[in-house]
Amino acid sequence: ATNNDAANKPKGRLVILTGPAGVGKGTVENALRKAHPEVWVSVSATTRKPRPGEVNGVNYWFLDDHQFSAKENAGEFLETATVHGLARYGTLLKPVQEHLAEGTPTVLEIDLQGARRVKQRAKELGLEIVSVFIAPPSFDELVRRLKGRGTETPEEVAKRLETAQVELAAENEFDVTIVNDNVNRAADELWSIIANEYGISE
Ligand code: 5GP
Repeated sequence: ATNNDAANKPKGRLVILTGPAGVGKGTVENALRKAHPEVWVSVSATTRKPRPGEVNGVNYWFLDDHQFSAKENAGEFLETATVHGLARYGTLLKPVQEHLAEGTPTVLEIDLQGARRVKQRAKELGLEIVSVFIAPPSFDELVRRLKGRGTETPEEVAKRLETAQVELAAENEFDVTIVNDNVNRAADELWSIIANEYGISE
């Protein structure tokens, strides 16, 4: 029976974690989750194939093209993007709205196209957001990380590098920058932002 505005008013803004491919957004996110299980990170849908160890419903909702399009046509996504021209990714809107309404610290880890799209749609959806850009310590380090993952083909790595170079220039579009020089330090900095947003004492 929480039909009044006060009860349904989100405590904090939706936190968007974004940045160039290979910058370690996912690693920072995982470190954050481990240290602070009270944070809810949105599980995206994707049409790419699971990597070894990835679990449906945990890392992603793994869909085929047809299933993805059906959800898109039904208006279930907050945003979608084709990343590296290879696979489609999308954030499901309803779970995000539900967690925010419950006052749960809510985080999206998405690429820059998705982050821009959410910024565009925020007003229309009545969403308040704080956007965090994860930056690499240097471009050379980013190249090393993109090559080091070892799960992509040379063509995929080349595509990712090309994207990353353009994406590094996007830093000033977002509210806060965190340099991922050290994963746990970066996750701590992210937690400070979230704790402050949601009025959690550290
Ligand atoms: P990966 O395939 O390595 O897990 O992720 C590739 C890229 O897709 C990363 O930059 C990640 O942030 C982005 N990504 C993951 N989920 C979503 C999503 O729901 N929307 C958008 N726009 N990008 C996403």
